[in-house]
Amino acid sequence: MSETAKTENVADWLRDAYAMEQQAETMLKSQSARLENYPKLKARIDQHIEETRGQQELLKGCLDRLGVSPSTVKDLGAKLMAMGQGVSGMFVSDEVVKGAMAGYVFEHLEIVSYTSLIAAAKAVGDTETQRVCEQILPQEEAMAKWLIEHIDEITTAFLERAANPDTQAKR
Ligand code: MG
Ligand code: FE
Repeated sequence: MSETAKTENVADWLRDAYAMEQQAETMLKSQSARLENYPKLKARIDQHIEETRGQQELLKGCLDRLGVSPSTVKDLGAKLMAMGQGVSGMFVSDEVVKGAMAGYVFEHLEIVSYTSLIAAAKAVGDTETQRVCEQILPQEEAMAKWLIEHIDEITTAFLERAANPDTQAKR
């Protein structure tokens, strides 16, 4: 593959990452707005919304530097729609639990995406993109770690609330 073709791939993947972070923000905001009875989860999600906005800025900087226009969310957004619906459209009776699970899955999509982008950036010698992705990756890992470490607590709290007719459990 020519060096130009390689760089174009990196640009495409940066665009995908940017769209992924827009999708992330949409899903996280939707989750946060609906949560009422799980303040710790809501606070962690709100923290990650701030991080996600910062990630968008960093990625936009990479796209600008490479002279690439960010794709519309449409492209990757469509691919991620199924996952997005898994979170934002979830008004099911156990949405807090399903939402935390979907969040965990989404964070892992982000983790593998940035790990791949770091390798790609290294391969083309794009040290700035590499640096940016290495800065973002630990935030995704930390969010995934928080979710897996709290899923038992969230699940138990949900069950307790669901067993009590006077409390709302699902969100
Ligand atoms: Mg992210
Ligand atoms: Fe994330």
